[in-house]
Amino acid sequence: MPRLPVLLTALMLAQPVLARDVVVHAGTLLDGVSATPRHEVSILIADDRITGVQAGYVAPAGAEVIDLTHQTVMPGFIDCHIHISERMPGGENAVEYDVTHNDIDAALNGAKYGREMLLQGFTSARDVGGGDETVSLRNAFAEGTLPGPRLFVSLEPLGPTGGHADPANGFERAFSRQGWQNGIVDTPETGRIKVREHKRRGADLIKMMPSGGIASIGDDPHRMLMTDDEMKSVVETAHALGMKVAAHIYPADAIKHAVQAGVDSVEHGSFADAEAYALMKQHGTYLVPTLTVYDVFYRAASEHPDLLPPGTAAKELANDQKPIRNFPNALKAGVKVALGTDLGQGDHAREFVLMTKAGMAPADALFAATRNAADLIGASDRIGSVQPGRYADLVAVDGDPLADPNLFETVKFVMKAGAVFKAGGEAVAVAAH
Ligand SMILES: [Zn+2]
Repeated sequence: MPRLPVLLTALMLAQPVLARDVVVHAGTLLDGVSATPRHEVSILIADDRITGVQAGYVAPAGAEVIDLTHQTVMPGFIDCHIHISERMPGGENAVEYDVTHNDIDAALNGAKYGREMLLQGFTSARDVGGGDETVSLRNAFAEGTLPGPRLFVSLEPLGPTGGHADPANGFERAFSRQGWQNGIVDTPETGRIKVREHKRRGADLIKMMPSGGIASIGDDPHRMLMTDDEMKSVVETAHALGMKVAAHIYPADAIKHAVQAGVDSVEHGSFADAEAYALMKQHGTYLVPTLTVYDVFYRAASEHPDLLPPGTAAKELANDQKPIRNFPNALKAGVKVALGTDLGQGDHAREFVLMTKAGMAPADALFAATRNAADLIGASDRIGSVQPGRYADLVAVDGDPLADPNLFETVKFVMKAGAVFKAGGEAVAVAAH
């Protein structure tokens, strides 16, 4: 390395760090901790962190004041199940698109959809199934190279040959792409190795697919495809490395096996029965219901079945209306819920509307997107609430979203790590932060 950058770094370190002090005046604050709204409070911020929350409107000397006295302020939303580069279904032929675009195209899509998510109020998200481009997007969003949510990424989902996570499933054998084998697990030993490889490549958590899926060719969403010893090996290795395990599962029986194997969350969980919910409650396993993706795919399968991967439109039509009907049973069982959409492109706040339509209290929907999501990720000390020490991730809406959950879809103000990305309902150009 030339000497100049070293010298500059040394000079910069020698300068006193000037904190940027900001105070947000919140007309109403839903802090992600208490179910009771607070009125007329000041949120004190230094650089990227919250330093205090005080009653009344205070204006410390030198602090920039942000006036949200007519808004409801909340912690930045967290989507626990995204695929950042995923396009909305039904826009083009899915297989044709997949075989004519590579991981760099995926990265560019992810840059666009990440910015859109952030402007919708999602300041953090878990990407549960992508390639190396998700690690690069996470880094670019963290470093301020691109605007986007704070990402926690899993890399390729782990699952068996011929399963939902095998992208070659249903394709001619000679047809494959680099990276398509990264998630294949057919023995406990390969499970252990793949977890360690994912960790080495930059994964924050592990995604596993014990059951078949709907939007894929050649597998059955009603079958458990991984064995207990494969699941246990993945979970044990991941937990030893400090990584959580998110498990994509539909059938009740597979949910029970995965919960016993120790997974941290059941993604979708759509065909759970009372016994499966009771087991999740007992083990403290989170449900990430992803009602939005069914809504989106049901429409695509109804209107453009020809554009979906071969054979999947019928699977969508047969299965997509079941999850929202089953969701009230999860609530009744007292299962912990974290918000997740399964989207990249699209309206991530739609999940608030669907969960509340299915009977969840709006205050609980907000907790699902804030403190519960942060707890599931294992980052409650940094995100998910408006408290001293947390990142200054704030969103605001006009009116009361607890009275009208549609307001979650019209976020007017977004701050991530102290930087304002949206104000007065308009995107703000942000310099590197
Ligand atoms: Zn997914």
